[in-house]
Amino acid sequence: MARNPGPRPAHTDGPQQAAGPEARVVVVGAGHGGAALVALLRQGGHRGEIVLIGDEPEHPYQRPPLSKKFTSGELEQVIRPREFYAEQQVVLQLGERVTGLDAAAQKLTTTSGGTFGYDFLVLATGARPRPLPAPGANLDGVAALRTLADARVLRDWLAERRRLVIVGAGYIGLEVAAVATAAGVPVTVLEREERVLNRVASSELSAILTAAHGARGVDIRVDAQVCALAGNGAVREVVLGSGGTLPADGVLVGIGAIPNTELAEAAGLACAGGIVVDETARTSDPAVLAIGDATVRPVAGVGRMRLESIPSATEQAKQAAATILGTPPPAPELPWFWSDQLDLKLKIAGVVLPGREVVLRGDPGIGRFALFHLERGQVRAVETANSPAEFMAGKKLIASGVLVDPVRLADPAVPLRDVSTGAC
Ligand SMILES: Cc1cc2nc3c(=O)[nH]c(=O)nc-3n(C[C@H](O)[C@H](O)[C@H](O)COP(=O)(O)OP(=O)(O)OC[C@H]3O[C@@H](n4cnc5c(N)ncnc54)[C@H](O)[C@@H]3O)c2cc1C
Repeated sequence: MARNPGPRPAHTDGPQQAAGPEARVVVVGAGHGGAALVALLRQGGHRGEIVLIGDEPEHPYQRPPLSKKFTSGELEQVIRPREFYAEQQVVLQLGERVTGLDAAAQKLTTTSGGTFGYDFLVLATGARPRPLPAPGANLDGVAALRTLADARVLRDWLAERRRLVIVGAGYIGLEVAAVATAAGVPVTVLEREERVLNRVASSELSAILTAAHGARGVDIRVDAQVCALAGNGAVREVVLGSGGTLPADGVLVGIGAIPNTELAEAAGLACAGGIVVDETARTSDPAVLAIGDATVRPVAGVGRMRLESIPSATEQAKQAAATILGTPPPAPELPWFWSDQLDLKLKIAGVVLPGREVVLRGDPGIGRFALFHLERGQVRAVETANSPAEFMAGKKLIASGVLVDPVRLADPAVPLRDVSTGAC
């Protein structure tokens, strides 16, 4: 277990006093949300003890490179320099798993038997890969991708140029497919649904990406149900619902993530497909906040939902910091996300929902385009590729709520500042 020097955590019994700048804050989960929060607290002038507990052995690191840079020397990137935590008097407990939460006593217990009292607890426990519900899912050579340790395994596989089958055409699956194919590894992507990114992208973007991946040699098969993985100890074959089989030396399962809500549930906090939080990051227990992938959170204009993105975890870290510091809550931010696939730098703002008019601007053929999603004449979301100006303009159009003319929006000759037909 790696430990930084600094103030020792308090070991307490019994409930604690109300919070303020001196409050003892314990953060469970040293990922994107947790690392952002501890930095924001110190930036905001928090003087009290801060403990950051994470079950992974690494200092908080960037997850996006795990699926985008795993064949390059840029895989391992820490979020903050390792010495940051000691300098900021943040007690970092790495390789330590929190196993018990007594919300009434405001006390946590960890695998190594440590106990931590808190005034504010922040659950930033993230999510874990959804396991493949099929026989053979535990064979050697079947893996998922969430952690740096997972990415190192993947990198080592690919160094041997073995045949890779990816189950699930979500963002992670497609990003890995692009990198592996570029590295000369034969890749097949199997998607149960009728299109790639079915849950999170428009059918227009799905079609464009399917074509782009196909042109680079990624074999994408939709409506492909995996029934079993077969092999003698190690995976050798994927058995499909159609009755066919595919040879495989490695299988990467990327079929979504399950929020880590167990601690919250055991402590009786409200959970509904995630830890339920409000726009101040509070859970149903006023001394417990939650942020990041583990939560279901309010999203303006949409309702409560689970967002899995760094911008969302960072926004919630700002909310939690404000709650702990007693400062005004930050203004709500528009959800956004990015993904790098092939030579496409994708940026998506707003929540993509079915049933909206989708206006294409630009040219997918040259890899530069924007898809604007309209509802009653207003832009609600935008999906862009290699188009930073359209992404920025799209965000402004969404925030302003102005009515737009779809014909002018589709015409790259019309500047985006001139597509409005007036206020709603
Ligand atoms: C391969 C990959 C690529 C991604 N690419 C992008 C991208 O390009 N853009 C983007 O916006 N988002 C991306 N994401 C999503 C993004 O990484 C997550 O939304 C973000 O990490 C969420 O932050 P978090 O703090 O909620 O969870 P995490 O960063 O997952 O951190 C949670 C931490 O808590 C730990 N933990 C859980 N339970 C306990 C416990 N009981 N005790 C101690 N520790 C515990 C976990 O092990 C983990 O280290 C990607 C994710 C992955 C996996």
